[in-house]
Amino acid sequence: MSLSAVPTWPNLPAVQQPTWPDLEELARVRATLATYPPLVFAGECDILRERLAEVARGEGFVLMGGDCAETFASATADSIRDRIKTILQMAAVLTYGASTPVVKLGRMAGQYAKPRSKDTEVRDGVELPAYRGDMVNDFAFTTAARAPDPQRLLRAYNASAATLNLVRAFTQGGFADLRHVHEWNRGFIRTAANSRYERMAHDIDKAMRFMQACGANFEAMRRVDVWSSHEALLLDYEQPLTRVDSRTGQLYATSGHFLWVGERTRGADDAHVDFVSRVRNPVGVKIGPTATPADLARLAERIDPDREPGRLTFIVRMGASRVRASLPALLEGARREGVHAAWICDPMHGNTFESGSGYKTRRFDDIVDEARGFFEVHRAVGTHPGGIHVELTGNDVTECLGGLSALHDDDLQRRYETLCDPRLNHQQSLELAFVVAEMLADA
Ligand code: PEP
Ligand code: MN
Repeated sequence: MSLSAVPTWPNLPAVQQPTWPDLEELARVRATLATYPPLVFAGECDILRERLAEVARGEGFVLMGGDCAETFASATADSIRDRIKTILQMAAVLTYGASTPVVKLGRMAGQYAKPRSKDTEVRDGVELPAYRGDMVNDFAFTTAARAPDPQRLLRAYNASAATLNLVRAFTQGGFADLRHVHEWNRGFIRTAANSRYERMAHDIDKAMRFMQACGANFEAMRRVDVWSSHEALLLDYEQPLTRVDSRTGQLYATSGHFLWVGERTRGADDAHVDFVSRVRNPVGVKIGPTATPADLARLAERIDPDREPGRLTFIVRMGASRVRASLPALLEGARREGVHAAWICDPMHGNTFESGSGYKTRRFDDIVDEARGFFEVHRAVGTHPGGIHVELTGNDVTECLGGLSALHDDDLQRRYETLCDPRLNHQQSLELAFVVAEMLADA
């Protein structure tokens, strides 16, 4: 891939961008980023687009998962490994439970910038800039920590490179081979979901030994693809990392394989949609409860005028109470317009609320209910429920309520570690995978 200069970007309205204090320093950082090697390659993005095209045609299922906000502090070997193991376990549950190929996407190696509902945060009468992710500022509530710092763009690049390097090592080096299905469960605390997983792993093992005895060739299974994805929010990061592919002359975002535009930045005439419309990567748009069929048609016109399956994914995040009423018209409208999007359910972002004890949380039951509603609507309309998008961690955190261990409001303070939205812990993630596998098997 060449490093040839990218055309200048049009000056369109871009919401949710930080107010950088020093624009000259920002320009220097952008120039530096533009010299850095790509994190992902055009050919990889093309393969992922083909995988997603299969999903759009109803021949696969997407599992997207990872932190709401990655942090530099948690870009450690243990934390990355545990997230990868959790994703691999969930994927095994889905693949085995529903006999469906699963496309695995980490919300990883670039998920360092966050949109916020307010520009500032007030604590005890003190007002400071809101935390916008480690790519922009620090979470600590001091004037110095909250000042946006362009140098953080370079740190985010380095942390993403290190993360992706480890993900590639785990998944291409044999660790993600289904024959290691038991090993992915090691090191996690014993839970009911875990034990259920062990039983399934035992069945998979048996099936694999049977296949081996029959002379099946497992070489192809040694390497597993886990693709990187994040919200393309901070244009000062994404634009300098965009490159012209020397083979085809086309533009690719090289910060991650799959990029999505968030619910707050999806204005069809705004800078974020314009950005993803110019790159060849497969891209997603988050779709909240206020979206209309006309909005989706305009997004498709901008991003996917050629109606190319795999190019565009809609990530639906309606809330459990709204998905059954709001989604049918969108699916039908998209079908009328000939839009071949893959449809993924994000059952997290429409179900966030503040608990009695003051923590931002989500109920496991609401998450399951939204996923169920998503499957029901697809079945009724005759379209394919193409995947699930979740915020998760491999740790035993206490951020979401409910699940088999019945986490209660009083438990949240025990291990509430997220800097942004509440994540499913390891057991809740596995549990969700089992429930969704059943929905998928019935779909
Ligand atoms: C997110 O995915 O963390 C997020 C902010 O989502 P949304 O754009 O759907 O609100
Ligand atoms: Mn989030």
